[in-house]
Amino acid sequence: MKARKRTSLIQDVQPPETRSLRKRATEIADLLEEHLGKPVLSGRRSRPLETLIATLLSQNTNDLNSHRAWVNLRKRYPRWEDVASAPSREIAKTIEVGGLKNQKAQRIKKILDIVRRDAGDFDLSFLKSKTNEEVIHYLTAMKGVGLKTAACVLVFSMGRDVFPVDTHIHRVCNRLALAKSKTAEQTYAQMRVIVPQRRAYSFHVNLIRFGRKVCRSQNPLCVECPLYDRCAFQDKERYALNAAARPAKSRGNPDFIILHHVS
Ligand code: SF4
Repeated sequence: MKARKRTSLIQDVQPPETRSLRKRATEIADLLEEHLGKPVLSGRRSRPLETLIATLLSQNTNDLNSHRAWVNLRKRYPRWEDVASAPSREIAKTIEVGGLKNQKAQRIKKILDIVRRDAGDFDLSFLKSKTNEEVIHYLTAMKGVGLKTAACVLVFSMGRDVFPVDTHIHRVCNRLALAKSKTAEQTYAQMRVIVPQRRAYSFHVNLIRFGRKVCRSQNPLCVECPLYDRCAFQDKERYALNAAARPAKSRGNPDFIILHHVS
């Protein structure tokens, strides 16, 4: 009873704009789940160190090449101690398909040194007893580890209700007027207080899918967008009209088609 009272007091002191943005975020999360389904986080989680290195390898490349770089790394060095003792140049060669090979190789080696120093071995499980803020503080102190990478470790390895912001999410949240920001870090800070509780993972995954297939950086498929009426993007009408003039086949292939914005 006391806990419920305390929660309602906290909600009561939210500024009005936060309350309305939270409502807006919930409505958009509902619509995305309606159209794209509800992604559920698997019970089988990768270890925090694996997620950390895999996310670092995914920087500045696409999913396919990032995956190839990860597979090559694990195949050549099955144990983290093998990576730690390998020459940087050799690691760089192994992960070169993912781009920025020298920078990533040096950063991976440095991260492994830090983890071994702090944990006594190559295991970040000790982070599980820390708060989200403590984990973010610890991980982002490592070179090459930004807010998004730290948030990915929290979600994908620790099951925390945290909302990582990548380039797609940053763009879409701004177009949908959920955030007003110049960087993904600012979007993270703004979204943190409005993402519906216990739905951060689903909202995160669906916004990435939506950003890749519909609300693309170039030529967004506004004419087929289920969020058209909620979107604040000033060019949406122009994109919708341009797309309506082209054959549907040439626009791309979203999972859902809703042609109702252009008569
Ligand atoms: S209307 Fe266009 S810009 Fe707006 S959310 Fe949909 S696809 Fe993105």
